Amino acid sequence: MPYSSPFLTEHRPGRFACAGCDTAAFDARAKFDSGTGWPSFERALPHAVQERSDDSLGMERTEVRCATCGSHLGHVFDDGPQPTGLRYCMNGVALSFHTT
Ligand SMILES: [Zn+2]
Repeated sequence: MPYSSPFLTEHRPGRFACAGCDTAAFDARAKFDSGTGWPSFERALPHAVQERSDDSLGMERTEVRCATCGSHLGHVFDDGPQPTGLRYCMNGVALSFHTT
């Protein structure tokens, strides 16, 4: 459910990792408030995620999976802030948070 993730109010420095295998996927500095109710990031860590086209639900979307274990993490959209222009819209239950 939107607004259900405790990560929405997580603003400490650290890294968000795949809940399945604990591989770091997003740096907390890449997180931004998208207003959608989902934890959102402007970029993933290098080589941390795999992206593939997903046309389920009749929508053309890009699915984001953990590059290590293949867990579904969320979707990426191209309406994010500059400079990346990307919005990684993540499912909070697919992530864990580690302070650095
Ligand atoms: Zn994983």
